[in-house]
Amino acid sequence: MSAVPSERLSLLLLLAIGAAMVGSLTAATAAAPARETPPTKPAHAVVPERLTGIPVSQLLVSMPAGARVPEAQLRRDVWLLAHPDWEGRGIGTAGIDSAANYLALRMRAIGLAPGGDDGTYFQSLEVTTGVEVGEPCAIEIAGNRFAAGEDFEPIGFSTNGRLKAPLVFAGYGISAPGYQYDDYAGLDVRDKLVLVLTNEPGEMDSTSRFDGSVNTAHAELRTKAIVAREHGALGLLVVNGPRHHAGEPLRAPRRDGAGYMTSGLLAASVSERLAERMLAGSGHTLRELQDSIERDTRPASVALADSATVMVTLRRTRATTRNVVGVIAGRDSARTLVVGAHYDHLGFGGESSLAADSHAPHVGADDNASGTAAMLGVATQLAARAAARTPQHHLVFCAFTGEEIGLLGSGHFVDQPTRPLPTVETMINMDMVGRLSRNRLAVSGTGTAAEFPAMLAAVNASTGGFEIKSSEDGYGPSDHSSFYKRRLPVLFLFTGAHVDYHKPSDTPDKLEYAGLARITQFCAAVVESLDARPRPTFHQARSDSTIGRIAGGAGYGAYLGTIPDYMQTEGGVLLSGVRSGGPAEQAGLRGADTIIQFDGVHVDNIYDYTYALRSRKPGQQVRITVKREGGNMDFVVTLGRRP
Ligand SMILES: [Zn+2]
Repeated sequence: MSAVPSERLSLLLLLAIGAAMVGSLTAATAAAPARETPPTKPAHAVVPERLTGIPVSQLLVSMPAGARVPEAQLRRDVWLLAHPDWEGRGIGTAGIDSAANYLALRMRAIGLAPGGDDGTYFQSLEVTTGVEVGEPCAIEIAGNRFAAGEDFEPIGFSTNGRLKAPLVFAGYGISAPGYQYDDYAGLDVRDKLVLVLTNEPGEMDSTSRFDGSVNTAHAELRTKAIVAREHGALGLLVVNGPRHHAGEPLRAPRRDGAGYMTSGLLAASVSERLAERMLAGSGHTLRELQDSIERDTRPASVALADSATVMVTLRRTRATTRNVVGVIAGRDSARTLVVGAHYDHLGFGGESSLAADSHAPHVGADDNASGTAAMLGVATQLAARAAARTPQHHLVFCAFTGEEIGLLGSGHFVDQPTRPLPTVETMINMDMVGRLSRNRLAVSGTGTAAEFPAMLAAVNASTGGFEIKSSEDGYGPSDHSSFYKRRLPVLFLFTGAHVDYHKPSDTPDKLEYAGLARITQFCAAVVESLDARPRPTFHQARSDSTIGRIAGGAGYGAYLGTIPDYMQTEGGVLLSGVRSGGPAEQAGLRGADTIIQFDGVHVDNIYDYTYALRSRKPGQQVRITVKREGGNMDFVVTLGRRP
């Protein structure tokens, strides 16, 4: 249980920022847009204007120029941003809009000028937030129709359409040469509907040929869909196996989470009851077939006598979401420094949650109310200094949205920068900086400019005193990647992963506020140091995927060395670059190529691509087809080993 207070947010605000503000902030919350707001112009873009005349000074702890950022202010920002009433700051919730309004208010109170669109603090972008079930959505077996609900549910990555086809039971739907296991061996599924079990053989069995207690990538529904498609099937039906999941309700197609890129076939979950009906004519039961596979880890695939008709209609839901941007104007318009942190989180869970099927608000105190509060703290400190002495650079402070669903806010910012991108000399990103332990601060990107190592050492000696664990790489699973992709020097501050990562238990009571204050201080000193220097010299840094692994990237074997563009969704995988010295570069692939075929696997999106790469081994030669300048080109690449 968390120690988050049970008072309503309005009361919390009352305590936090004084009675004079409450009416207006409540109004700001109420003015948050309905989810179906048309994407072009958010109705609430004007909210901060309505707050004119409010004693916003009360938002700030009074602070003389050059003073330390008070811990109390960081604590208050974190507790407010991570309040459960703000719905885990999920894209498409009213909560994230309230959080954005709050951030704009804070930026104004700090004295930042609006740095977004049309003289506001906001920069809007439209994103896909989920799918909704439309009509028709049903399955017909032997003249009986089952609508979406208890016995039949489309999967979020299904294509739309209607299909009548023969049924084939394909065990777990796995082709895994690495485990000497193939449900498709000797089975003809071309133009058919395959029925498969969820998960993989040996679930909960420590002696399993697979990994046993933890599922491998072969258990993922995405993988099963791609495998079925690559074997020529037109549809996939999945059923929970009775051994471990008897009677579990079907999952509704995700209404929250990333992309919803389609898998290229019709896909749905069916109940055990329905699966038994499909098997009825075969003389087998689901339980018996599953037991048989489990007994000796041998497939028990079988063509069925019946056919079924599947109809799926899914609508993708879209929402407008906002970056919040504030600026301290500097003396030289050709020079910019950016300090950023994402303020969105996982909402009520979804695909990225590590708390299985949780629907509690994922309040994200460390991820990333901590970085957002620190970014405001840095702004507070530098605004106080700027009042005495104008900085050289324009200092841009960004609270990014959509980080958790693919760096969308920062991707939008570098695509449509509010200041010319070439003027950006360094981007500093803070993501998860609230759990300083044993005085260890991870700083990545130290190899992205020649001057960084010495500069950081000097700043750390005077302000900080951290045990810095540095990594040269400019790529990582957060917003600085968007800037580094554009060949800009970046620095990324991070206090490390922990057991509460991406769970509802990432609560504000668990943060190390004294450490957060010190990191804020350190970050402000880094900005000041950069402000006093000539432009750093950009370097393409050595890559190091340590942080990617910490944050949940599975370590699979084969390595190609590509940098997919997160903004791209379908029609192939667009590369924003290739890693220097990697297999892709050596074979001649380059940025702006779109991969459409990988060793015979059709690549429509990042999931197809990941699958194709995972299913090959280091040292293997593969043929890759890319779209380049309107034509197709083939490359033969020898896959490397993941560094
Ligand atoms: Zn996160």
